[in-house]
Amino acid sequence: MKKESSLFHSDGMKSMAKAAFYFPRMLLQLGILKLTGIASLCHSHIHLDKCFILERCGDLISGDFKEAMEVTGIAKAAFPSNKEDLMERGRKLVRESVECGVTSMRAHLEIDGLVGFSCLDAGLHLKEEFHSACYIQIAAFAQEALFADAADIDPGHNFRLLAEAVQRSGVEVVGSAPYVEPTVDQAKKNITLILDLATRYSLHADFHLDYNLDPTSEPLIYEVINQARKYGRHWLVLEGGPRITIGHATRLQLFTPAEWRHLIDAIGDLAITIVGLPNSDMYMQGRQHRDNALGAPRSTLRVPYIASKYGFHIAMSVNNVENAFTPQGSVDPLALCSLAAAVFQAATKKDIEILMKGDPADFLIVHGTKTLQQAVLNPGIDRTTIRNGAVVACRQTRRWIASRDSTLTQSRAEIRGWWYALFPISWPYLVYKWVLAPHVWYVLSGYSESRSQ
Ligand SMILES: [Zn+2]
Repeated sequence: MKKESSLFHSDGMKSMAKAAFYFPRMLLQLGILKLTGIASLCHSHIHLDKCFILERCGDLISGDFKEAMEVTGIAKAAFPSNKEDLMERGRKLVRESVECGVTSMRAHLEIDGLVGFSCLDAGLHLKEEFHSACYIQIAAFAQEALFADAADIDPGHNFRLLAEAVQRSGVEVVGSAPYVEPTVDQAKKNITLILDLATRYSLHADFHLDYNLDPTSEPLIYEVINQARKYGRHWLVLEGGPRITIGHATRLQLFTPAEWRHLIDAIGDLAITIVGLPNSDMYMQGRQHRDNALGAPRSTLRVPYIASKYGFHIAMSVNNVENAFTPQGSVDPLALCSLAAAVFQAATKKDIEILMKGDPADFLIVHGTKTLQQAVLNPGIDRTTIRNGAVVACRQTRRWIASRDSTLTQSRAEIRGWWYALFPISWPYLVYKWVLAPHVWYVLSGYSESRSQ
């Protein structure tokens, strides 16, 4: 993803920001600060508009995809009449993400007859609102079918809206979910329509595709590959050029090694990335196997295995937070890594390096964590996020536990702080502790604070 400009406008502030960036990093490297600094995090695939709506979906009865589409459709119908709610939920997702250490995200915003452009409007607004803390790449996304009926030859109203949406300034990606089309032929036409739009308006393409565990189903990733080849050099791997991303792709889990190698040969020099979405994939897929001895299979792409065995361009992401497609889990990519370590049985140094590939230009401090392994396998809650040389978010928990001396110790600490205020010689320290430390110099204070708790 491309980088945005610096947070600060004045040179003085830039210098201060750089100091706040490089000084803690230097201390980290020298081992003076015993904190873990890692590359900042990215949501390569997240839905900014249908997050935090689970309580509006009623009690889930079947929990399957059909029900999720139905109850989410009912919730979505209310989006255009409550734009402030759309903004608030999106704002909550971005803010919590940055606090976790996310500094860039691809945000899917739905376009269809139910929501019109209301989700896209909210996404574009949030992109501006958070431009200094997080780069939000906007994907105009058709979750609903582009063809209204199985007998339709031409796409309907949803496609006309999408074609209008992608011309809006700030949209960088166009996406769809071909598997929701009434027929396979229409799913293939969906792919054609999206690649045409992407090519015409110089956008990336992003498909939710092959979202099943049916060995008899045709893997439509080959349809994407064959169609992309028709555009000549357009979709080849080029520096800064457009890419095709395929999300879910759980069908590929059924591939044999020979089928994987065939797929890799077919992709060749095409700029195609696959993104596994473990929280959603495992919650939704494999339900037909629930009565088997071991229950549903681990129906999500084995990201570290596929990356190391085949050298595949692959990532994983959070996808949804608190909705009927993914009721469980948080917005935290590090929590996803912990889950992945269990699901993929991947906790070796090499596995962790694959899971934690990121942009080292921005970084995240995970307080109270001593190693990269610990940050991935048991990530701390307290974090400081640094982007473009500036601290853009701090998350600090307050802790207290009932024990014989805890109340007394806390009271003594408060009394000691006010007692110090009587002596002018202590004032610089108190200014540092109460004013500076919680903000700009949080990075330095975090260590002592976390150790004293
Ligand atoms: Zn998705």
